[in-house]
Amino acid sequence: MENSYLSRAREMMEEIRANRRTIHEYAELAFDLPQTVALVMKELKSYGYEPKLCGKAGVTCTVGKPGKCILLRADMDALPMYEKTGLPFASKNKSCHSCGHDSHTAMLLAAAKMLKEREDELEGTVKFMFQPDEEDLAGAKDMIRGGVIHNQLIAVISLLEFCAAMYFTAVCFRKALVFDPSRPTDDGPFLPQKPLRQKNGKRR
Ligand SMILES: [Zn+2]
Repeated sequence: MENSYLSRAREMMEEIRANRRTIHEYAELAFDLPQTVALVMKELKSYGYEPKLCGKAGVTCTVGKPGKCILLRADMDALPMYEKTGLPFASKNKSCHSCGHDSHTAMLLAAAKMLKEREDELEGTVKFMFQPDEEDLAGAKDMIRGGVIHNQLIAVISLLEFCAAMYFTAVCFRKALVFDPSRPTDDGPFLPQKPLRQKNGKRR
């Protein structure tokens, strides 16, 4: 018999695709994500959540019962590129979701919806983290400063974004930092050579 969450996800396929394409169409950068954040907040409210803003442009909400907490994370920002695909849902501005964050956000919304539908079955808390500015490696730190981490957090699961996930997980568990964006990259292969955003706020 198929896993019941997988069956439900299949039923929601069109809805997940529609969210992904909407986010793709108005791809936004870094912390400047007004339309993306508005869509995430609207969808979460429609599922029965009371989402909160966290840091400059992050969104969080929780489902389940008080107790041990697992955090599910996805990123929402795009890259400063033109899209020339000609697809009906191609980006309408100078940014493009060429790193897949549109699908990450749509998938996390779907997970939030499914878990809300089955909230009574949960034995603890699941916290959702919709993160801005993964591409400049600044969004996770900003949300940590905004209080996304708390004492009862026992695990962090990040959707697909390996580099940011490693960094974020390292910060979460206060271990020696494997990746530090403020240092040169000779000691780690996973960070870009330069941040996409320079100190004066301009992009390369
Ligand atoms: Zn990315």
